[in-house]
Amino acid sequence: MDVSVFGTGYVGLIQAAALADVGHRVLCVDIDPGKIRQLQQAVPPISEPGLGSALEENIKAGRLLFSTQASDAVEHGELIFIAVGTPADEDGSADISHVLSVARQIANAMEANRTLIIKSTVPVGTADKVMACAEEELARRGKPYLSVRVVSNPEFLKEGSALADCMRPDRIIIGTADEEARAQLTELYAPFCRNREKLMFMDSRSAELTKYAANAMLATRISFMNELANLTEQLGADIEAVRRGIGSDPRIGYHFIYPGCGFGGSCLPKDLRALLHTAEHNGMPLRLLRSVTEVNDDQRHILLRKLKPYFPAGLAGKKIALWGLAFKPNTDDMREAPSRYLMESLWQEGATVHAFDPESMSECRRLYGYRDDLHLCATRDDTLEDADALVICTEWKNFRVVDFEMLASKLRAKVVIDGRNLYNPQQAADAGLHYRGIGLRHVMPEGPAV
Ligand code: NAD
Repeated sequence: MDVSVFGTGYVGLIQAAALADVGHRVLCVDIDPGKIRQLQQAVPPISEPGLGSALEENIKAGRLLFSTQASDAVEHGELIFIAVGTPADEDGSADISHVLSVARQIANAMEANRTLIIKSTVPVGTADKVMACAEEELARRGKPYLSVRVVSNPEFLKEGSALADCMRPDRIIIGTADEEARAQLTELYAPFCRNREKLMFMDSRSAELTKYAANAMLATRISFMNELANLTEQLGADIEAVRRGIGSDPRIGYHFIYPGCGFGGSCLPKDLRALLHTAEHNGMPLRLLRSVTEVNDDQRHILLRKLKPYFPAGLAGKKIALWGLAFKPNTDDMREAPSRYLMESLWQEGATVHAFDPESMSECRRLYGYRDDLHLCATRDDTLEDADALVICTEWKNFRVVDFEMLASKLRAKVVIDGRNLYNPQQAADAGLHYRGIGLRHVMPEGPAV
């Protein structure tokens, strides 16, 4: 099928690559000419496993095209995905102005019927607004005989495994009452449903809410575990034991019950704020979700809180090694990453950060530029040279094994604050380290306290 995609971010680009990979002819547009130039050369603007080769193969095969012209996309695609950003407004609500502007652009250029598929995460009622916007534009052009169909088709990919998630989705939610649109999407997604039916049809409002509900549930599990981990420390228990104990219950399961330094990324915090706003706006405040965000806001500062007592004279002039900048492994995305809250607080305290991340170094440079209190190091272990303490923010695979003796010999204060519970506290203490995780039982190293 001929498909167009507006927006070549994580969602639009990955969706486009997945659709091209199964044989659809896909044209992507973006307002960022630099990104489009890069993509035309098959250079991925984001770091996602498998994306580079998918771009190369599908561009070579002529199934994946890129343009900055909205009119190219409107002409090319009978089906048009809208995958542009929906950032949080000042009041927490999702800003859907980019989505509506794309809908207007499509209606303004279309000369044949088009089906608009909303991939962006949008508040309940947006599909209706997109329809109204497009119809208004068509009427203004004197072409009310052209028809627009609008489908809500939220995306559930996970950054870090985005292409694999799109190629093998758990479910494909399709919100529409339109029979023709239903048939079109069934044909479009047939290659992704070969082993079992994955399409779930519903009304557009329920589809829109399903996306927010999924993220709200995931965030709730994380905040629940974080709060419990903080209590665990007070009680002298061990959250890792508790996690294994409850995760083995099939009604609970192991997913999203890892305690840590707070959830971040471009979705959970933003989507929670938007859902809270929707609920309040409709006179039905969600008390539980309000607490989930409050717990997370607090948890973002836990690493600094754990670090400070080891430096009673303050952190000014201290050199802190930082492992992990991305909000989670296998991505370079630093939007609302815990590392950013930590770095910014450390700078306020007068400390210098020596950081390493396998993928996010250029993103970090783009965000913070060159400054005296930020050193981006070539390797994980380079951050340790003359460092006073080490803090871990992201659970990258190559942080999992470490030589504790080496850490103890390098770190002046022998302090390791681990926001991801990667290590065994006893082993770290045996090497003389002051090792603090999240909800782990504290084992004091032998010898004088720092
Ligand atoms: P992004 O910011 O990475 O990408 C958005 C892209 O849209 C940018 O390249 C921007 O230049 C482009 N754009 C903006 N206005 C445009 C226009 N008028 N025409 C063409 N292009 C335009 O965003 P993202 O992370 O891909 O997220 C997109 C949407 O999907 C958001 O609503 C987000 O909440 C949702 N979502 C994101 C994820 C995720 O993991 N990133 C997962 C599921 C859903």
